[in-house]
Amino acid sequence: MAGLPAAAQVDPGLPRARSLELETGTLSREELVGRVLAYHRTADADRLGRAFDFAREHHGEQLRASGDPYYSHPVAVAELLTQVQLDDVTIIAGLLHDTVEDTSVTLDDVRRQFGDDVADLVDGVTKLTRLEYRSEETKQAENFQKFILATVNDIRVLLVKLADRLHNMRTIHHLSKREKRERIARETMEIYAPLSRRVGLYHVASELEDLSFEQINPEARRAIQYRLDDLSKENRVDLERIRDDLTALMEAGGIRCRIKGRRKSPYSIWRKLERKSISFRDVADIFAFRIIVEEVSECYQALGLVHTVWACLPDRFRDFISVPKPNGYRSLHTTVRASGNRRVELQIRTEEMDNTAEHGVAAHWGYKNSVYGFDPDSARAVGLDPETNLRAFSELIAHEAEPDEFLEHAKLEMYREHVFTFTPKGRLIVLPRGAMPLDFAYAVHTAIGDTCTGVRINGENRALRTELDNGDVVEILRGCEPAAPTGWEAMTITGRARAALRRLVRNRERREFRRLGQGLIRQSLRRAGIDPVTVRLDTVAARAGYESGEAMAEAAGRGKISVRELIETVFPGHKVETAGDLSRLPADDEHAKMLVSGADLTPGVTLHLAECCRPLPGDRIIGIQEPDIGLVVHAISCARLAAFDDRPDAWVDLRWTELAETGAVAVGRIRVTGANQKGVLAMLCTAVAQSNGNIVAIETDKRTVDFIDLLLDIEVEDVRRLTQILAALRSLAVVDRAVREQEA
Ligand code: MN
Repeated sequence: MAGLPAAAQVDPGLPRARSLELETGTLSREELVGRVLAYHRTADADRLGRAFDFAREHHGEQLRASGDPYYSHPVAVAELLTQVQLDDVTIIAGLLHDTVEDTSVTLDDVRRQFGDDVADLVDGVTKLTRLEYRSEETKQAENFQKFILATVNDIRVLLVKLADRLHNMRTIHHLSKREKRERIARETMEIYAPLSRRVGLYHVASELEDLSFEQINPEARRAIQYRLDDLSKENRVDLERIRDDLTALMEAGGIRCRIKGRRKSPYSIWRKLERKSISFRDVADIFAFRIIVEEVSECYQALGLVHTVWACLPDRFRDFISVPKPNGYRSLHTTVRASGNRRVELQIRTEEMDNTAEHGVAAHWGYKNSVYGFDPDSARAVGLDPETNLRAFSELIAHEAEPDEFLEHAKLEMYREHVFTFTPKGRLIVLPRGAMPLDFAYAVHTAIGDTCTGVRINGENRALRTELDNGDVVEILRGCEPAAPTGWEAMTITGRARAALRRLVRNRERREFRRLGQGLIRQSLRRAGIDPVTVRLDTVAARAGYESGEAMAEAAGRGKISVRELIETVFPGHKVETAGDLSRLPADDEHAKMLVSGADLTPGVTLHLAECCRPLPGDRIIGIQEPDIGLVVHAISCARLAAFDDRPDAWVDLRWTELAETGAVAVGRIRVTGANQKGVLAMLCTAVAQSNGNIVAIETDKRTVDFIDLLLDIEVEDVRRLTQILAALRSLAVVDRAVREQEA
């Protein structure tokens, strides 16, 4: 790719307008195979030829926007790849790169006919292509780049993708929709140009930028192009003289070299104009020369010669030979005041350095000891670790940080600590590694996290504790109400999700306390002889100095105020009677019949749940036939049963109904004793609510300055739930004792 006749590289003496025409002709099968064999003697000519035919056959009648047969595109991509002299596997992958995505061919077909090495590359390219369609939010570009670097484990995948994009950009003017051209151009500018630069393909990068620039800002580009041509004409004589001077200087010093002229691309000039408040004329390095010598020592000799005749601008001198860039780029850069006080930028390097600079990563691929592949010696020659494999090499590339570019200075390791996921609409969500769906949901939006009920990952229902993976498409299933049961915090790792879940639990508790407080206030009103229906809580609250009825109810629910004192203060003359009994769900015949059944049950018998032991679903139960009362249902552990030991005829076998076992609620009673300290009631209520119990009534049995004895009536579905609640209460520091209240 870098070996292309890049338009940015023109002879300053002979300026020419940049041609947008296809610079890759459509090669024939024989021409393409011949090109590969020319640099890769052991290339598999048969496999190459078959790949050519395969692409032509399967793309069939498909056409490009240009009207060309579609297969001309993969052939052009393959041709671009031959220009960087990549191995036959890469060339074949170039030929086949669109077959899986755009034709009926499957990856298995490719694998069967062309082998694993080709199939793996095609698969990698196909995955990147699919990601492209998801990356519609351009703000995500930087992350997308990191995503590519984190997932591409064979640099050749990236090289095929870049060749693909380069050819698409060269032919983009055939697309009729302006919006589409612009979108593709922006994506190229923000993702593929920086990636090209990162792998050292500077020419590809600047061509991609310039082609994108033409779509994004055609007017600006045209203006700059016009000025550039003008400037080239204006400086033609000067530039020719400098070239002659340089040639003479090198000849006199006995240095054999070639001198190349280079002109800055319109886009790179535009960027300079944009970033620095300078005028066109002040852009220093619009024209530059490159001196290419044979030996490293000659680089310094050439530099010395130049500096003896022209003054160097010290702050512009860079020695990338003694300190190469991390991607292996080596060269001397200097800017001098040449003839006519003209500032000229010079790059001095060997042929080999030039090859690395032009071909980037690909420069270290070659034919060696009958094997074509990554050449560690070649890498070592430019100061890279010879052990470097492709993966490590792509890391190395990712480490490069050029202050002049919009690359981040971060390291690839850092990207590995992240996982890159997508919303169904293609928005990229970057999360710390180990993140789970709730982290994702809250990263997208708080409201989405709050109403999350489940998740689909890559189209499949998955558990909320599933760890997310790179590339996962995550669809959060939502309910209309905030869900987030207790314990969900364990399924998050981000602070954002945790804080949100805690807030959600707090809010739910507050609602719970409010409800409880309202119940307590209504109950006390009734006991004070006031019909609760005639009382507006807001009015009571206002008189008691609360900002709202809800705030007052919450305070009552949390046990922060004495409801009796409140009522007696607000309604002077009324006295709240202490009730001996708790209000509770009536355990009447009808209710009991829903819960209990038995084979020996006499039809029409009246059923009662015993008040003494309050049996709950899950308890083993027995019925005692009592005259004039009916059948009383006791827990088998009930102490009262001893009284019926001598009357076996009264015992009736019973069991819980299916309804009772599948969630009909019964009311269990718990006695709690503990420290009487501020907020103790709130703590108890929280513990019960978190164990999914619902307090229906609460009674203070005894209360002293430092001691409290409470009875809680709690709706539960079965005794197991009650046991859980007991355990939760016992775990509290303020609780001395919590037991199921059954008469002894
Ligand atoms: Mn393609």
